[in-house]
Amino acid sequence: MPQMMKAAVVHRFGEPLVIEDVPVPVPGSGELLVKVAACGVCHTDLHAADGDWPVKPSPPFIPGHEVAGVVAAIGPDVTGFKEGDPVGVAWLHDACLRCEYCETGWETLCEHQHDTGYSCNGGFAEYVIASAAFTARLPVNVDFAQIAPILCAGVTTYKGLKETEARAGEWVAISGIGGLGHIAIQYAKAMGFKVVALDVAPEKLALALETGADVAIDARSPDALAKVLLATGGGAHGVLVTAVSPPAFSQALGFVRRRGTVALVGLPPGEFPTPIFDVVLKRLTVRGSIVGTRRDLDEAIAMAVDKGITAEITKAPLAEINAIFARLKAGKIEGRMVLDLSMPFDESTSGSESSLAEC
Ligand code: NAD
Ligand code: ZN
Repeated sequence: MPQMMKAAVVHRFGEPLVIEDVPVPVPGSGELLVKVAACGVCHTDLHAADGDWPVKPSPPFIPGHEVAGVVAAIGPDVTGFKEGDPVGVAWLHDACLRCEYCETGWETLCEHQHDTGYSCNGGFAEYVIASAAFTARLPVNVDFAQIAPILCAGVTTYKGLKETEARAGEWVAISGIGGLGHIAIQYAKAMGFKVVALDVAPEKLALALETGADVAIDARSPDALAKVLLATGGGAHGVLVTAVSPPAFSQALGFVRRRGTVALVGLPPGEFPTPIFDVVLKRLTVRGSIVGTRRDLDEAIAMAVDKGITAEITKAPLAEINAIFARLKAGKIEGRMVLDLSMPFDESTSGSESSLAEC
């Protein structure tokens, strides 16, 4: 009889997750079993549970890719880890390490990658399997709940800001001040940028100023574009779009400076029109940016620790996940919700036992 654990499982897209007992997974070759202390709730987990994207996960699966915890067991052929080590598990569960992308330091683009909480079970559970080669090391005595959002929101925005190619002293505009955006502001300030923040909710704009933005602008205001252009003296050198709204992507092309770069990170389903004339004549660059490499992740963690970059977190027990998703969908979460696996489970919400596919 395998040991059992609690997990929040997606059985059907768009339906509530079920808290149920599933077997604790057994680490295979090159893998670690991680006891989850905390797992942040990213909007990507909601996209996954709703089946929003063209490439979909296969239910039943466990979401969650902002995992902080400790090594609980070590599979065969793993060196360099011991039980009890504090570790982080991010979106990129593993990659082939042999393709042209992996060989050139772009393992995030590997076509053979597996993704935590999407094509592999994730951290909305008491335990998760991690690939040792892709497992981040965390400082001893780290606050797990506090560091968890760095595993996705942190590394993604740190990488996205680098992808804008803005330089210290220049302006970056950050559109969408949710879980990602409010951490992006802190990385941007630590990287020496001046920051203009945009969102559609007054409380998010207040959070933007609290977390260090120089200017905060309501993206829905009719003169939002003019305000950004005025504040930045002619447009932002770099723009990071984390908003879960296609119109925000179009808007960003209006306030990027000539020769500037718009890094797209948000992933709302849909499309947005691109004004060819502006892109050509202003020599704009529009590029996607997807999480970060292992190197980016180590840098993002080190920078968060060194510079005191912290998410505005609210802790909740695993059983709260459906209420959290409802609030996330409604744009009602300030900062980041973090599932704290040490909080007691509410047994009344528990379902039955389930068997899950392996990665
Ligand atoms: P979130 O829900 O916490 O934040 C989204 C924010 O966008 C909210 O504050 C909301 O008010 C704001 N917003 C909505 N409409 C807007 C508009 N028109 N203009 C400006 N702001 C607007 O979500 P999150 O966890 O920060 O994730 C954001 C997006 O990034 C999601 O789509 C997620 O899937 C994606 N994501 C991408 C990557 C990647 O590697 N590319 C990694 C993580 C998350
Ligand atoms: Zn994420």
